[in-house]
Amino acid sequence: MSSIIIQKSLVRRWLTETLDNHNEKRNVMLKARYGYLRRAWGVLGVVLVVTGVWSAAQETDPTDGKAAYRFEEIAEDVWFATGSGTMTTMSNSLVIVNDDHAMLVDTSVTPAAARKLIAEIRAEVTDKPIHYVFNTHFHFDHAHGNQLFGDDVQIIGHDYVRVQHLANPLAQRTNRTFSAAIPPQIERLKAQIAEINNANDRAQLEVDLRVREAHWNAIQETVVKPPNVTYSDTMTLVKGGREVQLHFVGRGHTGGDTMVFLPQERIVFTGDFFVGSPNANALPYMGDGFVDEWPSSLQALKGLDFDVIVPGHGTPFSDRSQIDDLQAYLRDLWSQAADLRAQGVSAEDAVSRIDLTQHESNYGDRVRNVDPRAIVRIYERLQIQHPM
Ligand SMILES: [Zn+2]
Ligand SMILES: [Zn+2]
Repeated sequence: MSSIIIQKSLVRRWLTETLDNHNEKRNVMLKARYGYLRRAWGVLGVVLVVTGVWSAAQETDPTDGKAAYRFEEIAEDVWFATGSGTMTTMSNSLVIVNDDHAMLVDTSVTPAAARKLIAEIRAEVTDKPIHYVFNTHFHFDHAHGNQLFGDDVQIIGHDYVRVQHLANPLAQRTNRTFSAAIPPQIERLKAQIAEINNANDRAQLEVDLRVREAHWNAIQETVVKPPNVTYSDTMTLVKGGREVQLHFVGRGHTGGDTMVFLPQERIVFTGDFFVGSPNANALPYMGDGFVDEWPSSLQALKGLDFDVIVPGHGTPFSDRSQIDDLQAYLRDLWSQAADLRAQGVSAEDAVSRIDLTQHESNYGDRVRNVDPRAIVRIYERLQIQHPM
């Protein structure tokens, strides 16, 4: 991340030079965008440089009419939606079709992706109006399509989601770090395209570049819309012939993850709170996590009477023993990080000293790449519990 963080003064100089070279219409757009970026990230005294990206076309949908989502009916009128790869969608959604309306669990990563999702639901799944929207948690990839829904739609999430969405979420660590990774990815793709000789490989990279650039443009449209209905413990909706329960089972992936539980269908949508490891390589992001409390929250998840887990990333599965695997991983990670901190080891050094290879059979190579954001987050939690 540090390589793309540059002092504001440098950005201003670069911006001035750039503005001098463009026509007036372009100036207005760039100034507006610069203002947006400064508001979004300026809080931390740094500004992300998006060299080269501003000159890209302002395309947000690179699909040329192709489907962005695949839909699979996993129970009667309950549809699992996952990205097809033609644009950046990131997270899964669930579409629940009831007698006179539809419900949508998670709203995708950008307004453009959500626009596409809604259009494809209408074309492929149902033309009933979406009256209820659920956010499993506050993260961008599950909630940044919220703005497409008016106040006539109930956007429901845990209290914590609304609190986070009202607290400058574009500058929040997770959103910021994931977004900051995109301009360097675009530059890397451009460099690869400039060097590659094979025409097929080049064509594929150009598609990848178009998808990344469109995603970057789509991010700029985001205006975070918080849930307009919140709950704190559990909530039950019985609407249009369907019962849907929302359960907060304790803090874990964030401070307010919702399990969307369909008791008749015995399906639970877990968002990023529990993604399972069907391909032996899935571990949830922990940069906003409560790793110390997560295992006991997972224990509460086991109390729900489900057969199928639909994760926010990956594919649906039914192997409950994977919950034990994640509990074991989290307990090990927490205790090793806590020990290292007690020895005076910095969070930065702890990243390379933590050894999670005993979990390799469950998570594959992922155990060798501990996310530094997870360790920083654990140290934050420890600092609160045991100030030094
Ligand atoms: Zn998340
Ligand atoms: Zn996610």
